[in-house]
Amino acid sequence: MKKIQNYINGEFVAPISNKYIDNIDPSRGKVYSLIPDSDKEDVDAAVAAAAAAFPVWSNMSKDKRSDIMLRVSQLIEERLDIFAAAESLDNGKPLSLATAVDIPRAVSNFKFFATAILHYASESHYMESEGINYTTRKPIGVVGCISPWNLPLYLFTWKIAPALAAGNCVIAKPSEVTPMTAFMLSEICAEAGMPAGVLNLVHGLGHKVGDAITRHPEIKAISFTGGTQTGAMIAAIAAPMFKKLSLELGGKNPNIIFADCDFEDALSTTMRSSFANQGQICLCGSRIYIERSIYEKFKASFVEKTKNSLVSFPSDPKAKLGAIVSKSHMEKVLSYIELAKQEGGTILTGGEQVKLAGEYSEGYYLRPTIIEGLAYNCRTNQEEIFGPVVTIAPFDTEEEALMMANSTQYGLAATVWTSNLKKAHRIADNLESGIVWINSWLVRDLRTPFGGVKSSGVGREGGFEALRFFTEAKNIFVKS
Ligand code: NDP
Repeated sequence: MKKIQNYINGEFVAPISNKYIDNIDPSRGKVYSLIPDSDKEDVDAAVAAAAAAFPVWSNMSKDKRSDIMLRVSQLIEERLDIFAAAESLDNGKPLSLATAVDIPRAVSNFKFFATAILHYASESHYMESEGINYTTRKPIGVVGCISPWNLPLYLFTWKIAPALAAGNCVIAKPSEVTPMTAFMLSEICAEAGMPAGVLNLVHGLGHKVGDAITRHPEIKAISFTGGTQTGAMIAAIAAPMFKKLSLELGGKNPNIIFADCDFEDALSTTMRSSFANQGQICLCGSRIYIERSIYEKFKASFVEKTKNSLVSFPSDPKAKLGAIVSKSHMEKVLSYIELAKQEGGTILTGGEQVKLAGEYSEGYYLRPTIIEGLAYNCRTNQEEIFGPVVTIAPFDTEEEALMMANSTQYGLAATVWTSNLKKAHRIADNLESGIVWINSWLVRDLRTPFGGVKSSGVGREGGFEALRFFTEAKNIFVKS
């Protein structure tokens, strides 16, 4: 059985405890590899290596750093099929999705930040008859990156690429549930010529490795993507230590669909925004508000399409949905479906596990689920479920749609469907959300600020925002 190793100081090493955790293939419900059950001592070793590497990496010319990162991007691209197969096996997502979205995006993340750093400039402010201010932006030092399981390599590289491009050395922890492609990336970094100690991967549990990264006094910034509760725990530890913090947290995103929308486009995109990656994308729309005059028509078509969405093993090219990431997560999603029933909801389709045959009979599969008849402020409509479960409800006025959309503690993303441009702008402006898509979903330009408001997070990733996060500004004034 494959045994993943930590990557510390350019070497693949066993955890100091020599203990390992089972890594489960969710499509079969079987252990298929082992990952290090690392401790604080492993994090300490990684930080020592990173601190030693920092002078080399931060003083290397931007061109040279960029070349190494471009080489990483190229090597992932050359092995796209191997990476996609590994991601699909580790996470349960359809192979087609990993091939078309996850791995190409990891390639782009490295390419984007490898070149962004060449164009990154700092500010200068001239004061007439006084002098000039110029601002330098230097790398912070050793930084920590902690990422979740839903888009494993995609989100992992989204953090480490800007951190490395800006000249920092990184201690990274992928989710213990999906560590494989991050491990494969560490093999590539060595091959691409990244100096030892620049990127260090410590695998293991959040409450051990993640916690040790958060608490380590030499780690000066934490970039975290994951659940809101975990984010709050990290902030409680890191804030009194005055660490820089970027927190990308949960969502409960609304879709607002007006009667004057392009019906077919709204319907097919809503299928994707509801159930892509088994609904396990922080940007998925899980509360769908539909203007009453088209409610019944939309509902009928949406339910019909959802019933026909094939749930199958990840390598089935016809699969629209694959496996849920883990047994415990599947049980959490099922418990929310039970809650919805108790709260008076009607399951229009789905609501149950799918049992596949043969080698996949123990896998974690759920039928995509649509629920109606729930109050906007019930728990099902307020708490993040993070699975293939959406609720639908009619609305009569813009004000009502906005009130319901803004009613949760979250504010990550929202979609608006209308052909009325003025209305689209008006609604977008009044949505409490870091990201709004009008007549679209998940169109991503890596230069744009990415992140949420309210309990969906603090700070923004993407483009120069990410480079600003991973650098420290110093203003210098020179009298004229
Ligand atoms: P978690 O918060 O459980 O875990 C995220 C990462 O944090 C994992 O690597 C986890 O390790 C680690 N971790 C857990 N406990 C601690 C701790 N005490 N200290 C430090 N690190 C810790 O989230 P999930 O992995 O379950 O991911 C799903 C969540 O992520 C959803 O809420 C989703 O909305 C959110 N998300 C947000 C995105 C955004 O951009 N806003 C994008 C994608 C997801 P381990 O796996 O070992 O527990």
